[in-house]
Amino acid sequence: MEQDDEMPENGESLHPSVIIHVDFDYYYAQVEEVLNPDLKNKPIGIKQRFHIVTCNYKAREFGIKKMELIKDALNKCPNLVIVNGEDLSKYKTYSKRISDLLHTMIGPSERMGLDEHFMDVSKQVQGQISKMSREMLNQLRFTGPFYPNEEAFSKCSCGCENRLMVGSQIAQNIRDKILNELKLTCSVGIAHNKLLAKLVGQMNKPNNQTVLAPMAAAEFMAELKDIRSITGIGNRTANRIEELGIKSISDLQECEIDKLQKKFGSDMATRLKEMSVGCDSVEVKPSGKPKTVGLEDSCRPISIRSDAQEKFHALLSRLVTQIQDDGRIPQSIKVTVRKYDPVKKNSIRETKQCSLIPSHFRCAEGKIQLVEGAEDKIIKNVMMLFDRMVDLKQQFNITLLGLCFSKFQDQKRGPGSIANFLMKKQDVEVQSITNLSNESINGSFGDSFRSKTASPSSSIMDYETMSNTSLDFSGSEESEFEHSPKKRKKLSILLVAKGRRYSSNDDLASPSKLNVSALKLNGSGSVETSEGHVMKTNSIPSRVISPLCISNEPIACSSTKSPELPPNVDPNVWQELPLDVQRELMRSWQPASGSQLKVNPIASHSKSKPGGTLHKYFIRNS
Ligand SMILES: [Zn+2]
Repeated sequence: MEQDDEMPENGESLHPSVIIHVDFDYYYAQVEEVLNPDLKNKPIGIKQRFHIVTCNYKAREFGIKKMELIKDALNKCPNLVIVNGEDLSKYKTYSKRISDLLHTMIGPSERMGLDEHFMDVSKQVQGQISKMSREMLNQLRFTGPFYPNEEAFSKCSCGCENRLMVGSQIAQNIRDKILNELKLTCSVGIAHNKLLAKLVGQMNKPNNQTVLAPMAAAEFMAELKDIRSITGIGNRTANRIEELGIKSISDLQECEIDKLQKKFGSDMATRLKEMSVGCDSVEVKPSGKPKTVGLEDSCRPISIRSDAQEKFHALLSRLVTQIQDDGRIPQSIKVTVRKYDPVKKNSIRETKQCSLIPSHFRCAEGKIQLVEGAEDKIIKNVMMLFDRMVDLKQQFNITLLGLCFSKFQDQKRGPGSIANFLMKKQDVEVQSITNLSNESINGSFGDSFRSKTASPSSSIMDYETMSNTSLDFSGSEESEFEHSPKKRKKLSILLVAKGRRYSSNDDLASPSKLNVSALKLNGSGSVETSEGHVMKTNSIPSRVISPLCISNEPIACSSTKSPELPPNVDPNVWQELPLDVQRELMRSWQPASGSQLKVNPIASHSKSKPGGTLHKYFIRNS
């Protein structure tokens, strides 16, 4: 431990991250309580085959434990209400809602099983702190309990104290929101790494949170005593550690590393030593992104069309902010209205959707935004859907409006995405009209769930079944031992790797296959590849080439001249293309000896020509 070094020499913070771990209390049983509030004050146990897999706190008062045999549990508590939990679908549904809610609030989380989430909130924290005045910083306080005491946080001057204070406030907001919208409680840990966030969150269960002072990490670990408490160390590993005479975490802290190395090898020995003092550099790896991102606002009855339009504008701009870091572009928007019928005294929800043109969106500095004029175009179509759902000739009362993005598509670099870039002239079209009838959501939760949980301000909605295959609900996701984290990849490499999706048969000519480090800029402003190909860069607009400037060897970005394009290529379309595609096309158009660039419309269909399949997209229709 670097207890004495408050700031490393390179000026970086010792504890730069803020990690939040959310663990839902007695999850299956809590979901049953939410679905059936009559159970709330009764001891309940969830059964799978012959065991009680979890139970509520009321049942725990009788001494019932997880994985206890049903007959033993009933001996302890004859009034135990046993709920069959073999069908996981309702727990999965709630888990999806939790993921969506967290995503709306923070961004994608790393899900462990159905009821645990890790979130790296370092960026949000840093963003909030950067906006605070010195006075505001001085007034910062922790929210909720902390370990071991408030003074322990001031032992480090890397700035972690303020970061964790803000982190504790974010954690409180998360808990409030989850309770408000889903009626679920959770226990939350806040720390500078994943290992500690998970462990410290268990200190004040249920329905509470705990923040850990980084300098007290080793002390905290030692207090846990049992080496099995360390996340990732299962029984097998623990038994092997104990064979070395190591009985507790403090034994492990004091043990010579050589002894561990002989038994476990160098990597694992190092990792065990690190974990014993609370060091962990494993990053939060976000699980799959949500299929839909939506917002709904319940409101005082709206009976004027323009009021609804105004509300949709506000919803849309909030929704765009929510997806700004998503990296994907939605291709569909769903509009929801809830109409109140004063005669029948009931409410009807109705939903319709239309497609969105990808070129309404752009990515600037890594953030998804609407292009100029797109908001009005989208709202125009939203109102078209609104008009189909609401009979304007009659008096109407709208009590809720919602917008929801769906059909997200990754921003690909390759031919598959070229169509996106070229579709910009069109407008949004009403593609399909779904759910013409009353769209109140039925099923096991139904409207009763929604109306109870709808907050006055907003709530994330639209809980469609998620089809994302990267989410794994089955079994235990944690390995017996978590290995060292992979090194953080350079953005430049990722960009190049993405470009590989777009590869043609001509290996040499395809710039997408070039290694960034192999690109060198020579004095004349052209990029030389390792194979000796030379490509002019001084005519490519800086906006377009900028992604490569993130690489280790900077490439000049100052040029703003227009590219030397063949006459029948639309320069606007050209500028929208990914850099690697531009380069590939440029290369294929490069004349043999300085003559004018030309795209031959006939040759462009020939597959033998490099980039031939792309050409046809750039020829202006005249
Ligand atoms: Zn610190």
